[in-house]
Amino acid sequence: MANHKGNEWQFSGSEAAKEAAAATLGAYTSVLYAMCDPNGKPSLPPRNKDPETSHTAEKAVAKVVLCGSGNAYAPSIGLPLAKGAVAEYLNRDLPKKLTADDVFMTVGCKRAIDLAVDILAKPKANVLLPRPGFPWDVVRSIYKSLEVRYYDFIPEKNFEIDFESVKKVADKNTFAIFIINPHNPNGNTYSEVHLKQLAELAKELSIMVVSDEVFRWTVFGNNPFVPMGKFSSIVPVVTLGSLSKGWNVPGWRTGWLALHDLDGVFKNTKILQAATEFLQINAKPPTIIQAAMPDILEKTPKEFFDTRGSFLKDKVDFAYSKLNHIPGLTCYMKPEACTFLWTKLDLSCFVDIEDDQDFCKKLAVEESLVVLPGIAFSQKNWLRHSIDMETPTLEDAFERLKSFCERHSITEDGASLKDVNGVN
Ligand SMILES: *Cc1c(COP(=O)(O)O)cnc(C)c1O
Repeated sequence: MANHKGNEWQFSGSEAAKEAAAATLGAYTSVLYAMCDPNGKPSLPPRNKDPETSHTAEKAVAKVVLCGSGNAYAPSIGLPLAKGAVAEYLNRDLPKKLTADDVFMTVGCKRAIDLAVDILAKPKANVLLPRPGFPWDVVRSIYKSLEVRYYDFIPEKNFEIDFESVKKVADKNTFAIFIINPHNPNGNTYSEVHLKQLAELAKELSIMVVSDEVFRWTVFGNNPFVPMGKFSSIVPVVTLGSLSKGWNVPGWRTGWLALHDLDGVFKNTKILQAATEFLQINAKPPTIIQAAMPDILEKTPKEFFDTRGSFLKDKVDFAYSKLNHIPGLTCYMKPEACTFLWTKLDLSCFVDIEDDQDFCKKLAVEESLVVLPGIAFSQKNWLRHSIDMETPTLEDAFERLKSFCERHSITEDGASLKDVNGVN
């Protein structure tokens, strides 16, 4: 065999995605799961379990496959059938109706975020992102060298957007404020009044609102979900969504971006054209799933979402009550949506915890429990706990969390429990 050792190959991997990849959630989770003890307790939460999905969605896809339809290429902006179904679905709550032409099909909500950033980003432009927030907006912005500016929330007011913080960071190069509603990881939904105030503020700043509504079907609190598109007579709105969370089918990779135009501004500013062009050069969701969209959206019974909602509410209630007995963690609001608890870490309660990442690493090593550090959501010294699992598993997870926190916490006379009890 020839020896290739001395050869100087004329290729090497590009590092263009390196910095952006480091900001993904996967970058944090993979490190923490790797630290769990493979020979000790099983790691929690269990990984890669196939979630229970809607039978309606499965049947709709099976029907497409059996008919032999959905095997051909679809137009790059999406199958008209799917676009129309999304428009019709969103229109249920909208005073100003969308048409199929306003909707673009994307490979999940992540690619809808990418598309929103791609079509809007310009040199010197900046974008306002939530802190904390689902990191994909940040990831894409880093990748596009777009300047990210953060706005904050008011934990004491059910995590409403702090409008003063928005005003403080916006300037003439800001083009959009991205919101997440229901919010991952805060776990709240925004009231109609709050969204209207946001629309008015965005109008004052001459920026659009991009609303990630991927969790709109996962709401179980007292406040109903209100779509941002409802206020598109005040300000231009872009809605992002997908089947992933609501139908529990993240692997199907089917999402959308909808443009709620205001007086033709999206047409005049070539946003509509840019969306078409970017989709022409990008991957599309599988045609089979697109063809099943009308059935999935129209025929999934309300009970499917209700059952899922009460399952999650039950888990949130359980986890929230367990948290009361754990030192050092504060949950400002019992979540009314999504699948997490979001807690603040009080470092002064612990003897040997440096920060949120240190907490999560030690927790993975000692208890094989994976909790995500706030820094993964741009907010240091907070934690995100998954609650979407069966009660015995959740109970086990919170027991491990409790013994970890107690073991590392400072007792009243300043010594750690570890010193006092000789517990290791
Ligand atoms: C999970 C999630 C996404 C990604 O959705 P996909 O459809 O799986 O790409 C986007 N935004 C938020 C807020 C999410 O939680």
